[in-house]
Amino acid sequence: MEGNMPFKCSKCGKTLEKHECYEHRGKVFCEDCYMDILSPMKACDPWAVHSAQTFLKGKDKLSTLTPLQLNVVNYIKGKGEATIEEMIANLNLSEEELRREFAVLRHMEVLRATKKEGKILYILF
Ligand SMILES: [Zn+2]
Repeated sequence: MEGNMPFKCSKCGKTLEKHECYEHRGKVFCEDCYMDILSPMKACDPWAVHSAQTFLKGKDKLSTLTPLQLNVVNYIKGKGEATIEEMIANLNLSEEELRREFAVLRHMEVLRATKKEGKILYILF
C-alpha cells in the first residue's frame, strides 16, 4: 500500500498535501474550493464579490470593514483562533451570516481557515 498518495481537490483538481485537505460530504477539496462550497457567496451576491474585488491595496484593510466584519475580526484577534460554532454563540450571528462575512474577509486576505485536530478554525490571515 502506498503511504503517500497525493490528495486532489475534487473541484479544481489541485494536488494537495494532507494538511491542506478539507473534507465535505466525503469529498476532498482545497481551502479555496472548500470555502466556495460552504459560502453562500455566489454570482447572485454581487455586493460581496464586488467589495472583495475592489478592495484597495495598500490601504488599511480594517478601515474598509463593516462593523459586523470588525466584530468577527476583533473576536478572532482576541482569541487567536475561533471555531464557527464558538462565534455563533458569542457574536450573536447566524451561521449563514458568519460564512458570508468570512467569505468576504477571506477574499480580502484578512482572515483564513486552518485545520487543527480535525476542527476548522478561523485565524487572522
Ligand atoms: Zn480546489
